Amino acid sequence: MVNYGRVTFSLKKRLEDIVSEKYISDAPEDLEKYSKDESLTPPHPPEIVVKPVSVEEVSAIMKLAYENFIPVTPQGSRTGLSGAAHPIHGGIVLSFERMNKIIEIDEENMMTVVEPGVLIMDLHAETEKKGLLYPPDPGQESGTIGGNISTNAGGVRGMKYGVTRDFVQGLEAVLPNGTIIDLGGKNVKNSTGYELIDLIIGSEGTLAVVTKAILRLIPKPRHTALLYVPFNSTRDAVKVVPEIIKRKVIPFAIEYMPQHAVLTAEKYLERRLPDNEHSAYLLIGVEGNSESEIDNSLEVAGEACLEMGGLDAFVAETQTQQQQLWEARKCLFDAYKSFYEIDEVDACVPRNKIPDYVEEAEKIAENNRLLIVNIGHAGDGNVHSIIAKGETEREEWLKVLEKTVNELISVSLSLGGTVSGEHGVGYTKKNYLELKVGKTQVELMKMIKRVFDPNNILNPGKVFDL
Ligand SMILES: Cc1cc2nc3c(=O)[nH]c(=O)nc-3n(C[C@H](O)[C@H](O)[C@H](O)COP(=O)(O)OP(=O)(O)OC[C@H]3O[C@@H](n4cnc5c(N)ncnc54)[C@H](O)[C@@H]3O)c2cc1C
Repeated sequence: MVNYGRVTFSLKKRLEDIVSEKYISDAPEDLEKYSKDESLTPPHPPEIVVKPVSVEEVSAIMKLAYENFIPVTPQGSRTGLSGAAHPIHGGIVLSFERMNKIIEIDEENMMTVVEPGVLIMDLHAETEKKGLLYPPDPGQESGTIGGNISTNAGGVRGMKYGVTRDFVQGLEAVLPNGTIIDLGGKNVKNSTGYELIDLIIGSEGTLAVVTKAILRLIPKPRHTALLYVPFNSTRDAVKVVPEIIKRKVIPFAIEYMPQHAVLTAEKYLERRLPDNEHSAYLLIGVEGNSESEIDNSLEVAGEACLEMGGLDAFVAETQTQQQQLWEARKCLFDAYKSFYEIDEVDACVPRNKIPDYVEEAEKIAENNRLLIVNIGHAGDGNVHSIIAKGETEREEWLKVLEKTVNELISVSLSLGGTVSGEHGVGYTKKNYLELKVGKTQVELMKMIKRVFDPNNILNPGKVFDL
């Protein structure tokens, strides 16, 4: 365990020389604001918040922190759900809100160059104006690209396009000692040595600070449509997924919602969805460049659903109808948070194991006498189990919660699944890492961390303890 230095008056002055006084704060309200993410983890205030505007400033801050053993926590929008952005040892928060420029949209190479503080919703809006699409689509659109890269964020389009990692072509990053490195680039192929870029993607801000990214784009399909299909059971709903794919239609998204989630979305949004009377629902998104392509995909996917237990197939073709359905799916975390105190597990199991996972999760809910609502990216096997506090006292709930999280993760692992599909290990799930990857891989990860960060100053205490 490192004996970390403190952000003394003289160190604060040196930070002001790098970034200017205006962009540094140790005001109590700022320390509170930057002390936590969206997880249930209690806050961990930093000693100071610093907002650099360039890679040179980030490099100088890291060099100063490295020489003085000051812990540094990079932060995007703090929308993470695993405590990864909590400054658990105090020190410096490095906030990227000023490094928020889309530097270039390169239509010839179909790539964009961005600073880490760009919000995912702004990147989508700007690229779509040019008829291009950045496919990763995590539900929280106010998250940053830096945060998305560092958690290898997923989202609803994962089943067709993959996740953030699949679209990162190049990174500029700053090592914990302040050295600036460039990884990858606009070249499509690269077979030149170890792919260090893949170590940094998903490393939750523990190996290097991302200061610029080159991201791959694709042509934006001209038309989209959505199917909303009720079923009598989760098992019926999920078994349709491989059937649609077998019929050569690859939806860009297949989302699963139980009836409880549909009713909760209706209550939160104060409007009705096309149907709320059945036990399980699929939301199936198709896309294409012509209306006939869309009609064909809707017909094939709709037929597959109706032949396999779907009770109806509501089609949303207009932008407004589609937006309203997506809004219902995407509001669920906020909806549950507004009605209950919640935590969540984002297990990812092989697609065909979703019904087994959901059935086991329902038994766990009953045994522990709490509410678990399983909402799924059914197309890729990533199930978000929202665990909601009922009438129990808070202390009792926290105890039951820990047991419930343990049990859900055990079920996921027993089905060949993961600890986290897209939110990361961070602070809240680090005790589970070894259960999935084993001792040898954890040791390898620790060795890699020591090579990048021998003083253990960059986001220490995340993913594992050194
Ligand atoms: C309602 C809701 C829905 C969500 N839906 C999804 C979803 O569908 N898919 C999904 O994957 N996630 C989802 N999330 C989780 C969250 O939005 C993602 O984890 C997102 O990637 C976090 O981005 P951020 O900018 O908020 O990062 P933060 O929470 O601020 O940070 C996350 C991690 O990234 C590191 N980091 C941030 N910036 C940098 C940088 N420049 N350099 C190095 N490290 C950095 C931090 O140190 C931390 O480890 C959801 C969250 C909410 C609240």
